Amino acid sequence: MKDLIIVGAGPAGFTAAIYGLRAKLDLFMLEKTGPGGQIALSDVIENYPGYSSISGLELMQKFEEHAKKFGLEIQSSEVTGVEDRGDYKLVKTTSGDIETKAVIICSGAKPRKLDVPGEKEFTGRGVSYCATCDGFFFKGKDVVTVGGGDTAVKESLFLTKMVNKVFLVHRRDALRAEKIIQEKALTSPKINIQWDAVVTEIKGNTKVEGVAIKNVKTGAEEVLPVQGIFIFVGIVPNTGFLNLVDKDEAGFVKVNKKMETNIPGIFAAGDCRDTPLRQVVTAVGDAAIAVTSAETYIERLK
Ligand SMILES: Cc1cc2nc3c(=O)[nH]c(=O)nc-3n(C[C@H](O)[C@H](O)[C@H](O)COP(=O)(O)OP(=O)(O)OC[C@H]3O[C@@H](n4cnc5c(N)ncnc54)[C@H](O)[C@@H]3O)c2cc1C
Repeated sequence: MKDLIIVGAGPAGFTAAIYGLRAKLDLFMLEKTGPGGQIALSDVIENYPGYSSISGLELMQKFEEHAKKFGLEIQSSEVTGVEDRGDYKLVKTTSGDIETKAVIICSGAKPRKLDVPGEKEFTGRGVSYCATCDGFFFKGKDVVTVGGGDTAVKESLFLTKMVNKVFLVHRRDALRAEKIIQEKALTSPKINIQWDAVVTEIKGNTKVEGVAIKNVKTGAEEVLPVQGIFIFVGIVPNTGFLNLVDKDEAGFVKVNKKMETNIPGIFAAGDCRDTPLRQVVTAVGDAAIAVTSAETYIERLK
């Protein structure tokens, strides 16, 4: 039986592996697509300490090399379920079942898509899902933001520090965000709210050059001449395979400050958990805590 199974080979998973292997735990990692996680798709990262500018792929290659130096094995399988068998857990995968003393879920999340023409083609070339990550690249430019919740409004305000103008496109006639941040957005000279509007197409040749919107009440259509679009219509956790543990209404795994779920021996770290900030730096911090808690749990089983 394994000591520890890590689900997901993103920043949280690799960190869990480094800490776990250095603690001499008998572990391995399961990854359903390829190593790297979401960040491997990001062109440039400028907010991970120690690297003033690095591509997401290169950063994740460094994480992987680091973990492999300590002997990490990655198995290419999708986890389809985790069962609690008391003293051990049964991890169900597309390549068979694995018995383990503890599991750390590092399965991450994905931004909800708008599913409009141009979105897929221009992702990373003007279409972004993360203002903290990509806002800087739009310094002095005009951008669209989409959404009406806390994230959309907060990120729009954040973008006003660097961009020239933000067109906030919201499908209703009122924002859902906290009142205090709503007021800031409504009074910001840099934010122009497009009420009752939906994005119908993202236009451009090699990168974003405009965003087509439609008013849902009048049917009026126009193209906003912008160089970027930031989409904040929600984030979807990769936790559908987990039925055992408590999750919030959106599906994010609930944990305490030790990254323990409600099921002893099952821990969660990174974007898949209920956290106020989803970044590489927070995912790695969570994972270090989760392994320390898992070690204590495994020790107590002896
Ligand atoms: C476009 C974009 C740009 C970003 N830019 C930045 C940035 O500049 N700086 C920054 O700090 N953060 C950035 N982020 C956020 C950052 O990518 C995430 O916070 C970070 O990747 C979370 O790491 P994680 O390990 O928790 O999850 P993920 O990176 O999502 O990795 C989870 C892994 O688990 C695997 N997995 C999922 N389900 C299963 C399963 N059932 N079985 C097996 N494997 C599974 C997935 O395939 C994936 O490889 C960006 C995000 C996006 C989308």
